Amino acid sequence: MRDAHTDAPFRVALTFDAEHPDRPHRAGVTEAILDVLAARGVTSTWFLQGRWVESEPALARRVATDGHLVGNHSFYHARLPLLTDAGLATDVEAAERVIRDMVGVDPRPWFRCPFGAGADDERVLDGLARLGYRHIGEDVVLEDWEPHRTGPLLLADALRLAPAAGDPAVILFHAWPPGTLDALPGLIDGLQAMGARFVRIDELERFASGDGAALAPDEAASLPAGGR
Ligand SMILES: [Zn+2]
Repeated sequence: MRDAHTDAPFRVALTFDAEHPDRPHRAGVTEAILDVLAARGVTSTWFLQGRWVESEPALARRVATDGHLVGNHSFYHARLPLLTDAGLATDVEAAERVIRDMVGVDPRPWFRCPFGAGADDERVLDGLARLGYRHIGEDVVLEDWEPHRTGPLLLADALRLAPAAGDPAVILFHAWPPGTLDALPGLIDGLQAMGARFVRIDELERFASGDGAALAPDEAASLPAGGR
């Protein structure tokens, strides 16, 4: 654990899962999140769901052209442990094809399991590895997908949990919740004031090889578990 009151530099990786929302949201949030990041010169990591890329190709392309690292978040956003080996491969490769064709980048080796399901499942991780991927976990979970998690709540928790997570701190966000957008400017400015430097996942030595890709869920600094 890092002392939250020191001002020693530490790295923060903002990560956004971009997907079809399954909770109430408002139009334009994803574009506005990209605007905030661009205005502050912050690059981050985005895990794109294949179906979302198909429906929002221009927005998906902007993620890459804005300088963010693009990863794969599956095509259908199913719980991967429920799929057969062949089903998992079909789903992950379908997303990869859409990302290559419509965004113009290769998302390998970066992958994030939908719902985090499969992050500790050897069969899922082996299946991903055969396809050239590794699951990227997170250190800080703010439950931004929950409608009651408003911007001020997310901001307060992020400013507390991210410094406490140590260096580096990988924060899980989604690209559609209004609270995420509302929290983001203050979160970036606040963490920078504490000494944070914002990095992409591919800048972190922890993710350079196949191991250490994910902390066990109980090691992550997070709120009580919920859906996501
Ligand atoms: Zn997701």
